[in-house]
Amino acid sequence: MWRILCGIGVLVAIVHPLAESRAVRRRGGAELQLDNYLSYDGIMQYLDQLALAHSSRMTLKDVGRTYENRALKMAMITNGDGRSGKRVIFLDAALHSREWMTPAAALLTIHKLVVEFEENSDLLADYDWHIMPLANPDGYVYSRNTERYWRNTRTPNGGNCFGTNLNRNFAVNWKEGFPQLRDPCDENYAGSSPFSEVEARTVRDIMHGLVESKRAVMYLSLHTANRSVFYPWVYNTAPVPNQEEHDEIGKFVADRIFQSTGTIIKTWQYALYDGTFGGTSMDYALLAGFPLSFVFEMSGTGRDNVEYKFFPPARDIRHLAEESWTGIKAFAAKAIEKYPPSRAISHNQMVELPKNAAPTIRGFNSMVGTVCIFFLYLTSVLN
Ligand SMILES: [Zn+2]
Repeated sequence: MWRILCGIGVLVAIVHPLAESRAVRRRGGAELQLDNYLSYDGIMQYLDQLALAHSSRMTLKDVGRTYENRALKMAMITNGDGRSGKRVIFLDAALHSREWMTPAAALLTIHKLVVEFEENSDLLADYDWHIMPLANPDGYVYSRNTERYWRNTRTPNGGNCFGTNLNRNFAVNWKEGFPQLRDPCDENYAGSSPFSEVEARTVRDIMHGLVESKRAVMYLSLHTANRSVFYPWVYNTAPVPNQEEHDEIGKFVADRIFQSTGTIIKTWQYALYDGTFGGTSMDYALLAGFPLSFVFEMSGTGRDNVEYKFFPPARDIRHLAEESWTGIKAFAAKAIEKYPPSRAISHNQMVELPKNAAPTIRGFNSMVGTVCIFFLYLTSVLN
């Protein structure tokens, strides 16, 4: 009986993904739905289907598990020419879970690079893109289902308080700046220690991996809805060594967006805009050795000119995601122009590399297969 069940299990584990892969390829890939905000499952399903349909140019990597055991996934996008070790643009979205437009813009970016590859191939000639479209899935699910304005992770802090602000959890002047960073019940809580959150550790490990392999060029973190391009430092009012370069790229992005939709985007060094505090991923990326690091605070203003901030109505998702793509494309074009392969990069590492690597997660199907093959072997030996 067990052997029959396991035999069926192994067959399903092997045949099901193959059949699905053929079906998705026949359909020419997944449709990106931008008529509504996608659920966590909807985002994962879209990524799975896209990776199946375009396996020569997109690899979907399991990069970690959240506190509530959801998958953290990263799309690794190339032009399929087989050249390894290209420089990388690393983009993440939804570190703050209530900023619902950011995963939509990240998914549209993946769509533009993978499905509309021909139109955007210049952005992939000498560069790969690594994109985490949902960096805080636990918070995103909680924001969608329970408390819309939820911004943080879902780790318990004791005393019926939950969650750490991922963009305060990085090891740069951690917990310094203002009192709420130390309040476990506040939405600015910086965590119980630097990198207490697995989601922040995952982003950190990706950054260090790219720096170690000398591929890191630009870190771009998507937020809403301040209509700004921010560059480091946040923790310090001093200028970064390549401030002019950051400022030029930010103004180029703002200009491209203004030409396209009329939306006004301002460019700032963050500390000069809103004071200094510690723990941000943007500062950490620069300290880890990325030459360029930005936060893009996308617009949350609808076409009716109403400021919807974090939750623009569904009818505006596509328009705002397209506007953000105009910006993201400008960031990339300018970064690539500034850092062609001929320009050597001294990855100036001002923070230590972590000793612990992110755990590797195996797919469920392959796990079922392995366990059952072992079980079949065991029963045949015992018989
Ligand atoms: Zn934010």
